[in-house]
Amino acid sequence: MPSFSSPKSTAWRRVAVVAATTVAAAAGAVPVLADVASAQGAVPPAASVAPAAPPVPRVTLHRAVATERGFDANAWWIQSPDGLILIDALMLRSDARALVAALKSTGKPLRAVFITHAHADHFGGLSTIRAAYPGVPIVATRATAQGMREVHDQGMVPNGWLRAFGSEYDSAFVAPDRIVSSGDTLRLAGVTLIVRDYGPVESHNNSVIQVPELKALFTGDATVHGASFYVGPIDAKRALTALPQILADHPGEVTAYAGHYGPRPLDRSVADNLDQVRRLHAITALVGSDPGNRTANGDLTLAAKRQVLLLVALEAAGRADYGVGAVGFARYQLPATIAAFVADSARRTSPMTKAVRDAMRPLLFMAGHYDNGDITVGLGGLYLDATVESKSGHRYQLMFSYDHAQQRYRVVSRDQISGLLDVFVGAREADGSLLVSNLEPGTHYLDASGAKVFNRMRFSPKEDGTWVWRVESGRGDGVWTDPFEQTMRRRALR
Ligand SMILES: [Zn+2]
Repeated sequence: MPSFSSPKSTAWRRVAVVAATTVAAAAGAVPVLADVASAQGAVPPAASVAPAAPPVPRVTLHRAVATERGFDANAWWIQSPDGLILIDALMLRSDARALVAALKSTGKPLRAVFITHAHADHFGGLSTIRAAYPGVPIVATRATAQGMREVHDQGMVPNGWLRAFGSEYDSAFVAPDRIVSSGDTLRLAGVTLIVRDYGPVESHNNSVIQVPELKALFTGDATVHGASFYVGPIDAKRALTALPQILADHPGEVTAYAGHYGPRPLDRSVADNLDQVRRLHAITALVGSDPGNRTANGDLTLAAKRQVLLLVALEAAGRADYGVGAVGFARYQLPATIAAFVADSARRTSPMTKAVRDAMRPLLFMAGHYDNGDITVGLGGLYLDATVESKSGHRYQLMFSYDHAQQRYRVVSRDQISGLLDVFVGAREADGSLLVSNLEPGTHYLDASGAKVFNRMRFSPKEDGTWVWRVESGRGDGVWTDPFEQTMRRRALR
């Protein structure tokens, strides 16, 4: 399988045509050429000298990638001796024109276009494609077809969001003319395709298309690999049930080909996406569980929303972001996520869970991305997860948690080289610092002479938003020496 490592690299800036048989174009303007998948398995990347022509697979899979302005969207197409089947249509005219040029270069007829979901970055290019292939059937579920109309109309109103694209967005709307239902099996260009509909997930409606011959599942935006998972505007918790259902419906070795970024085994994509969605809800639960962060009608206060926005952006940082930046992406995530929390918060939270969240919230001053590591909100909003590198190059994983029974904080630290665990115990001080030590029976270091060495750590918030991490050593006699301090400053987020 060829590398899809960096969708941000220049090679992918323009529409990249991934074609199985047109390796000769590698020297031309088309930036990347490689096999994606074929019914006869993976073929090695194009070599400049081919000793013998490999057997030409009967069915091959190809990819066209939109520009960043087109949200890095994918259009996938399947090629068989009988023609082409296109899955999704990109958005901008220029991206769609490049896609059409790639399709035309095959010399094969286009048999159908599937639209997986009702987002303009996946259907806006339909008019360009229809003009190039008059009469080609446009296939979608009824709910996706309806959603497309709504999204298009919303974009077309004065100052609608599509206005930003000017003449690059086509005001001519092309409606699907072949409506399919969940469970339908279609035979097109000699290829079998199975459609399944999962209702609203990250769009009004999300459907997926399975091609058993390629062990492929075209997931639209119902999964994503390497990027942040968008929970959509409708119901930010739907993904928590829809994703496991998609996996259960497609067992075995299946590769997910998503609407953005590269392919990945379906099970791994689902696991990663679920984890992201759970973390998103954990952040909101942690911030929202403070009555001081709620308005009279139960909504989050503006300050609390800002805090959620920052924490969600921290989660998104480092992943591909559809060209909108981590903060921009967090803005998309927020409304539905907060609405889901507000709707949910009538449900009773156990007093212990509430107590733990109340204890963890004051430690949020540490959450962030730093030059030497990351600190993020753990699942359920019940702990903080940290991965940090010390001055000496050791990497540690730390979990900050609260022991409700003993009413004390615990910081578990695992040295990734030695595997040794340290358990620090302590409390918050009047100035907001967390002070913990590993004096209690448990783990401790030994120095070269075999003497016990204990550590004490203090995490102190500062007015300017930075905080100080101080580590000292001792012999267990109350005397602390060798202080080492570092000021932790968050890296800026885009
Ligand atoms: Zn999309």
